[in-house]
Amino acid sequence: MKIAMLAVNAKLYSHQRLKAAAEERGHELTIINTLQCYMNIASRRPDVYYNGEKLPTFDAVIPRIGASVTFYGTAVLRQFEMQGVFPLNESVAIGRSRDKLRSMQLLAREGIGLPVTTFANDPKQTEEVLKLAGGAPLVVKLLEGTQGIGVVLADTDRSAKSVIEAFRGANVHVLVQEFIKEAGGTDIRALVVGGKVIAAMKRTGAEGEFRSNLHRGGSAAAIKISPEERSTAIRSARAMGLNVCGVDMLRSNHGPVVMEVNSTPGLEGVEKATGIDVAGKIIEYLEGNARPNKTKTRGKG
Ligand code: ADP
Repeated sequence: MKIAMLAVNAKLYSHQRLKAAAEERGHELTIINTLQCYMNIASRRPDVYYNGEKLPTFDAVIPRIGASVTFYGTAVLRQFEMQGVFPLNESVAIGRSRDKLRSMQLLAREGIGLPVTTFANDPKQTEEVLKLAGGAPLVVKLLEGTQGIGVVLADTDRSAKSVIEAFRGANVHVLVQEFIKEAGGTDIRALVVGGKVIAAMKRTGAEGEFRSNLHRGGSAAAIKISPEERSTAIRSARAMGLNVCGVDMLRSNHGPVVMEVNSTPGLEGVEKATGIDVAGKIIEYLEGNARPNKTKTRGKG
């Protein structure tokens, strides 16, 4: 196969691993800098240009579109989809996963366990929102945060109110969520590829830290997940329409609750913690599924 990978930084571990896994299996993988692509979006022929040349037609495209380039990256990906190139994840599904409210609404509709989560626009509703979320302790989260930045634990209603007001004063949106204390600073990430969980790890925050992000000093280890956790991860991927994703869950007293579904999961943490060749499984998924014109939306969604 001729595979294109849309990525801004070709040197990242995940990108190098996917390239090596493709080449080991006899494929050709070209890393294309998403932000350097240009196109005539008004043309009936959805070509993509790069380095002064029109790109050839690929058999598959692996979008590794970071949160900061979602807007442009999904536009480039749509051009590929309109050409009938098979995307590992479709642009529409990536767009869904980048909108936390939309994602949670989709998961809730499927009856997937979620932490009680409330949202309001007007700071006048702060008191009501706190009540609706069940009162302190509460987690207040920036709607657009990543890597645990902008995730705050408020022990009292009063501190929750001040944090919400501070964020709203800075004109950013926040979610207010029930604090899953029993998770003990540990979350679970299940890697779903083609409707199966192929690897799972637990991440535990540094001492005294309730956030388990590896970027915040957390550590990762392989974990055996329960059948309920497995099915929650698979159903979440399906609800989002993602072929490949990382589903982040917390172990609550009332079963697994999903925090986030990540459409561009990093491979380094999970491969090192579990010893599983995740990149290889992703390439094998493409081998089994990438056919021309097999995308669901062809960029129309
Ligand atoms: P980000 O997307 O920025 O990583 P998350 O929503 O994943 O933010 O939160 C970061 C970490 O904080 C999670 O990995 C988890 O360990 C912890 N956390 C987040 N929400 C809750 C919650 N409601 N209850 C308990 N811990 C939480």
